[in-house]
Amino acid sequence: MALGNISFTLLSFFYCILICVVYFCKPRIKNEETKLYSYLIITCMTGVTLSLGTYFFMANLDKYPILNYIFSKAYLLFIIVYLAIMTLYVFKISIFEKDEKLIKHKTLIINSTIILFTLAASLILILPISYVSQNKIVYSYGQSVSLTFTITRVVAIMWIIILIFKRKNVPWKKVIPMIAYIIVGSIVSIIQKNNPELLLSTAMIVFVTFLMYFTIENPDVKMIESLNEAKDQAERANNAKTDFLSSMSHEIRTPLNAIVGFSNGLIEEEGLKERAREDVSSIITASASLLELVNGILDISKIEAGKLEIIDTNYNFHKVFDELVLLTKARLGEKALDFRYSYDESIPEYLYGDASRVKQVILNLLTNSVKYTNTGFIEFKVRSVIKNDIVRLIISVEDSGIGIKKENIDKLFSKFERLGVEKDTTVEGTGLGLAITKRLVEMMGGKIVVQSVYGKGSIFTISLDQKIVTGSELEKLKKQEAVKIEDVKVLDASNKKVLVVDDNNLNLKVAKRLLEQYKCETICVSSGFECIDKIACGEKYDLILLDDMMPKLSGSETLVKLKEMPSFNMPVVALTANAISGMKEEYLKKGFNDYLSKPIEKAELNRVMNKFLS
Ligand code: ADP
Repeated sequence: MALGNISFTLLSFFYCILICVVYFCKPRIKNEETKLYSYLIITCMTGVTLSLGTYFFMANLDKYPILNYIFSKAYLLFIIVYLAIMTLYVFKISIFEKDEKLIKHKTLIINSTIILFTLAASLILILPISYVSQNKIVYSYGQSVSLTFTITRVVAIMWIIILIFKRKNVPWKKVIPMIAYIIVGSIVSIIQKNNPELLLSTAMIVFVTFLMYFTIENPDVKMIESLNEAKDQAERANNAKTDFLSSMSHEIRTPLNAIVGFSNGLIEEEGLKERAREDVSSIITASASLLELVNGILDISKIEAGKLEIIDTNYNFHKVFDELVLLTKARLGEKALDFRYSYDESIPEYLYGDASRVKQVILNLLTNSVKYTNTGFIEFKVRSVIKNDIVRLIISVEDSGIGIKKENIDKLFSKFERLGVEKDTTVEGTGLGLAITKRLVEMMGGKIVVQSVYGKGSIFTISLDQKIVTGSELEKLKKQEAVKIEDVKVLDASNKKVLVVDDNNLNLKVAKRLLEQYKCETICVSSGFECIDKIACGEKYDLILLDDMMPKLSGSETLVKLKEMPSFNMPVVALTANAISGMKEEYLKKGFNDYLSKPIEKAELNRVMNKFLS
């Protein structure tokens, strides 16, 4: 070590202060890397101070021999501490981030490194140090100085080896300070050999530390905080939107329930004038498309809020296919289109998947082909590839309709995008169908593609993997199916009593109408309180249909109160217009025996009546 030109050390001192101020004043993320860097800066600051002290005491060697000795040794210790922290930093960036095997031994590696460097430091303290003055420059030398510089070189070589072996783990940016240390260190040692009066080693260490400032992970805390806040806000807004949709769906579906229920009842009535029948039929069509729109908006918002779940169950694929064909035939109405359909006979009857979503996506393609085809044909085909217990369904819907322009194909699956039908108000639609279809298909792990020639027609193809149901599970399903076929007849529940609880009079009327066919006695009440009163008075019912969204006392709260009654054991089915996904599970968890969504579907009601009253 030499005593000579102090200017580099002084400059380093100011640089060091600058780094300290910038680094410690700025809010920062606390992690291992930033912690190590903090230690490094503090060590640097100490080192530069020691370096200045050494300069002063060496210049006055005769006056302060002991202080000179202490400062020289302390300076050597600073170098060792600096190397130790840098070595831990090298371990951190190269091993402790990704190397699974070595991460397990992290504590052992850290402790061994600290012990080794402590041993080296102790040796440096014990070994002798001497001074020599040459051309007015004072040098320190001796075993402790030599040992320090040997360690410096050995450690640098070790870093190189580690960084080369673990290069895949380390981002390039982080290696820069180490490379700088090695290159600048070598240049410094050459310069210093020829010009010992230039005190460069401290300046070099400060330079490397300064470089590191730009490479450590130190994301701006304020920015992260504001991002988190924005995320929370967005989440809150999203939740508010879902809540709003949930209540909106309720508000719209309740009157729709009444419209659909009454119109269906009316159209079946005998002696209705032709004109009235046509009007009722239009009311049914209009309310059906309104319902479709509400459901579409609900679906897309659920998908976007990540709240839509794919619920896999065993289902009968052949039956789903038949239902789709029937529904499409009904939609064809007056259109004289040649509707062809077929499926591979090799497709197993029972599959495992989300039947209602599979049906929804196919039905959407079929409905579109009916909507956008005026002459010619529609062909609905399901082909299959079977591999082990998986069947890949290749579902295609082809039509000879209006087709889609090439430039519009990309927009096809975007929300609210209706192509070329701006002026054509006769084609009903929302532009939501295909956006939902694509997202649902992808959620089920499938793919959808479209080929189309404008003016000639389109083919939409979905490929979707479904598990095949086999073995004892298959036997069970077949048995259940056999029982269900018998159940299809409308149940005769002549001597049964059903209690319907709903705050909306229209809904009560609809329910009463729907229940008429079962010949049961239907009693209607318009609040949870009345329902509780009836049960408390000892009345017995074979089934209670309980609306959830009622003012003052909700259906769920009513159920809790009913369940508190010691002898209460009647089946209670939740009745709700809330169509948000996961509702059924939610109601079953609350203790309801089943769930019916409004507008009540005949088939669903049939299922529930058979389940509890047969
Ligand atoms: P919409 O409710 O408008 O039918 P979709 O998302 O289902 O909404 O479809 C988006 C647009 O894609 C439609 O408006 C229509 O322009 C076009 N489209 C969909 N299917 C077909 C088809 N089979 N033939 C021609 N155009 C189609």
